[in-house]
Amino acid sequence: MNKTPNSNRKHIGIFGKTNSGKSSLLNAITEQEISIVSDIKGTTTDSVTKAMELIPYGPVLFIDTGGLDDTGILGNKRVETALNELKRTDFILYVLDATDSDLNYYKEKIKELKRYKSSHLLVINKMDLLSEVETENIKTQLIKEMGLKLKNTSEEEFFKNDIVFVSSKKRENILIFKELLVEKLSSEEQEESIIGDLLEYGDTVVMVIPIDSEAPKGRLILPQVQLIRDCLDHGIKSHIIRESELESTLKDIKKIDLVITDSQVFKEVDIMLKDRAPLTSFSILFARQKGNIDILIEGAKSVEGLKDGAKILIAETCTHNTSHDDIGRVKIPKLLQAKTGKKFEFIFKMGREYPKNLEDYDLVIHCGGCMVNKKNMQSRISESGKKNTPITNYGLIIAHLNGILDKSIEILKK
Ligand code: SF4
Repeated sequence: MNKTPNSNRKHIGIFGKTNSGKSSLLNAITEQEISIVSDIKGTTTDSVTKAMELIPYGPVLFIDTGGLDDTGILGNKRVETALNELKRTDFILYVLDATDSDLNYYKEKIKELKRYKSSHLLVINKMDLLSEVETENIKTQLIKEMGLKLKNTSEEEFFKNDIVFVSSKKRENILIFKELLVEKLSSEEQEESIIGDLLEYGDTVVMVIPIDSEAPKGRLILPQVQLIRDCLDHGIKSHIIRESELESTLKDIKKIDLVITDSQVFKEVDIMLKDRAPLTSFSILFARQKGNIDILIEGAKSVEGLKDGAKILIAETCTHNTSHDDIGRVKIPKLLQAKTGKKFEFIFKMGREYPKNLEDYDLVIHCGGCMVNKKNMQSRISESGKKNTPITNYGLIIAHLNGILDKSIEILKK
């Protein structure tokens, strides 16, 4: 389970003021010294991540962020880094120091944090430092300040569902907290399959994977591995072949329900297939799973409106040193200019680096984003939307430029 890629883990961001007990909470959850705990404010500068198996929920990635009330030039930078983590956060743990329970600050901050629509849980930490009277006071204060919710629920439910009181020093508290977190995460979990909801149990897919000089030695790349696993999970029979074996495979297998190809041989595979089976690509399936496919389809069609000299951003979410460097850096630019007969300016951004000035670009062409979670991919799509810059992805643009876009998204309409 340790091998679960981070992109497949639920990302849980831990936010709060400096010294509110975020790091001690993470250390208590993981039962390890992951984050430095200190009484000196601002000890957590850059975010600290820890992948773990949250039993019985499954694989998660905790992100311990710097304090939101940090000040000064460096402090502001740290706040910016913390807020940036929201883009990949699926669930927020907001940690409040029981001895400094500034609820107005919390209410203001949680509004800001929830901009990315993440669900959250309020964790009141350091309860061991409060007397019984102080504990009752803080509960009364919480009901008063956040009474709106109480109108629809009992006091007991209110505390159980939305707020958890802990002391990171008490193991029994942490166990209860973990149970509640599992409950919260499970209740909102929607099983998001790559292909399992498009095909039936027992259907057959053929995956076409070119093994050329760009393919990594001795292994498959992550999108291919994830898709094979998704087929296994859903009882879909998969045949993995190179394009050179496609003709003979088509003769051998009577019933093929879908052919999934690497985008770089889209055209060749379409010609060989002669409409014998529906066709799509790995990155189109990932585009559907990780983002808003309709926006990405529109983005692909927007190439018609590009003028000579248009500025195009080619973005990849990992800095791999293998295979489809070539698709993004060479093949797509070449194909785009050949098909449109125009010259464009291409700018390449790899890894977590993503420009803020998207309004300066005429089109964003993104990779499948298999290394990042859905939240992260959607955040990039929505940033483009805010700046009115069309966005598409590798598979969709290649399909469009080869005149097979409609065919390659037909399977998604099921
Ligand atoms: S470039 Fe994108 S699609 Fe390719 S491996 Fe990296 S994250 Fe996945």
